[in-house]
Amino acid sequence: MAYDPNNIFAKILRGDAPCFKVYEDDMTLSFMDVMPQAEGHTLVIPKFPAENLFDLDPEYAGAMAKTVQRIAPAVKKAFNVPGILVAQLNGAEAGQTVFHIHTHIIPRRNGIDLKLHARGMADFKELESQAEKIRALIE
Ligand code: 5GP
Repeated sequence: MAYDPNNIFAKILRGDAPCFKVYEDDMTLSFMDVMPQAEGHTLVIPKFPAENLFDLDPEYAGAMAKTVQRIAPAVKKAFNVPGILVAQLNGAEAGQTVFHIHTHIIPRRNGIDLKLHARGMADFKELESQAEKIRALIE
C-alpha cells in the first residue's frame, strides 16, 4: 500500500490538524494520543513519510528511538508509574490504525488494565494539562 499523505499524522505534521504537543525537533514530533489506553499515553512520530518500520529511513528510525528514550522517562515521572510500555504496530493485522509510523509510550502499573486500543476520546483540557506536565519534565 502506498503512503497516504492525508493520514491524520501527516496532517498533524503539516499543521493541518491540531495536536497536544509534548516535544519537537528536526526529525521527530511527540504528542498526546487522543484515545489513550492509559492516562499519559503519548506518541512519537518521525517527520518522514513512511507507513511502517520497514519503509522508514534508518536515520529517522534512530531519531524516533532517541526521542522515545528522552520522552518516556518524562512520562514515567509525570504519571508516577513503575512501568512504561513502548509499542509500535506494523500493519492492520498487527492492530495498526494510523498509517504513518509511530511509537506508543504507555504508562503501566499493577492492577490497571489497558483501555481498548483507539476507542474512547479523552477530555481535551486534560490532554493539554498532561502534555504540559510531561514537557516540564523532559531532560
Ligand atoms: P496504531 O493503532 O496505528 O498503532 O495507533 C494509532 C493511535 O493514534 C491510536 O492509539 C489512536 O488512539 C491514535 N489516534 C487516532 N487518531 C488520532 C488523532 O487524530 N490525534 C491523535 N493525537 N491521536 C490519534
